[in-house]
Amino acid sequence: MDRNYSNWQSLTSLALFLLPFLFIGWLFDLFWPVTALALLGLVCWHYYYQQKLIKWLWQSRTLMPPSAPGSWSYIYDGIYRSQRRSQKRRKALARLLRRFREAAEALPDAAIVFRADGALLWSNKLAQFYFGLRWPDDAGQRLSNLIRHPEFYAYLNAGNFDEELTIPSPIRESLDIEIRIMPYSEDQFLLVARDVTQVKRLENLRREFVANVSHELKTPLTVLQGYLEMMDEPQQTPPAMLKKAVENMNAQSTRMANLVDQLLTLSRMETPSNDVFDHEVDMPALLEQLESEAKRLNEVKQHKIEFDVAPVRIYGKENLLRSAMQNLITNAINYTPDGGEIKVTWKTVAGGVEFSVKDNGKGIAAEHLPRLTERFYRVEDDRNSASGGTGLGLSIVKHAIEHHNSQLDINSSLEKGSRFSFRIPSGLLVS
Ligand code: ADP
Repeated sequence: MDRNYSNWQSLTSLALFLLPFLFIGWLFDLFWPVTALALLGLVCWHYYYQQKLIKWLWQSRTLMPPSAPGSWSYIYDGIYRSQRRSQKRRKALARLLRRFREAAEALPDAAIVFRADGALLWSNKLAQFYFGLRWPDDAGQRLSNLIRHPEFYAYLNAGNFDEELTIPSPIRESLDIEIRIMPYSEDQFLLVARDVTQVKRLENLRREFVANVSHELKTPLTVLQGYLEMMDEPQQTPPAMLKKAVENMNAQSTRMANLVDQLLTLSRMETPSNDVFDHEVDMPALLEQLESEAKRLNEVKQHKIEFDVAPVRIYGKENLLRSAMQNLITNAINYTPDGGEIKVTWKTVAGGVEFSVKDNGKGIAAEHLPRLTERFYRVEDDRNSASGGTGLGLSIVKHAIEHHNSQLDINSSLEKGSRFSFRIPSGLLVS
């Protein structure tokens, strides 16, 4: 309904009301008293409906206006319509707000809304989890009191939010939280925070990895460079020295080639594959090859090496299994003092079949055991030894057997010896 109460309408109704009174006043020669009486009646009538309006607006609980005649019906209806409009707008706004909150809850990030003076206006569940906020109990509290961290305090006070800030979670120290703040209305700010623990860990690993590779390559390269400089003046180098130089250069370049080979093997192994079941591996035949390789390697150290191999074949990846077993056997030979005893077994056990290498060498201190399979990790004493190791061997073993749903068990005690083993689950046995 679109009602329009024009000036013309207003004047006509006033005229229609007054005319009878004017006529009667003129007829009885009482023009002014009757006109005044009529106008007084009009004022009372308006006063009555004005009071009704005030009562409806301030006391009545209903949205429906009381009925009224003439111009007052336009006023009542007009107010009623504008109230309905603002009620609809309020509802739409509330719906919008609810949707915004639902969307903010669905975000994979923590979100906090706060005022320029630092007062908390709203936070989603993840923010409560990362920062220990309590919503709505903490509403209105200053953010710097709720997230207590000196760097965050300084960041908030500086007011320059171009760069993000990473701090440990105030309630879970192990979580690294990256914080970004964006102003989004005149005096409001949106803080978005995400868990970057994993990203930071990977970044550290990458940095460590590059540093390790560079370090491992730098040492042999420095040695090679030194010998090359010496050979630049062959007439001044005694022949015996030259022979030794060539031997050392050979050893160093073999070491670098080994390192690169092992890195390539590792990077190939990191690609997960599901085709383990495709190939049968003749483990007894493979172990026979490894036994003759071990004998060749053992010529210098003269350990007593024994192989005890059950005729069990499995499904798997031959090259990975070969790398794993070869590394364990080579380590036992290298890290056991001359004339030691090494026993290699492949035998069925409960739940599968187990490969193990046992030596009576120097053993490994307990504090090193959890880190042995990390890339480049070497026990302190062996770091500078001439074993030619790179610290990648056990990392390769770990990855190779993970492809076969297995993991490496290490038992070792100082001066007594070590036992490295892994169990291939019975699901991979060829029946
Ligand atoms: P590396 O290339 O140095 O042999 P590995 O990852 O194979 O690297 O081994 C890591 C470290 O574990 C070695 O540096 C060595 O100190 C220790 N280790 C491995 N196997 C044995 C073993 N059988 N006896 C004693 N120490 C061992």
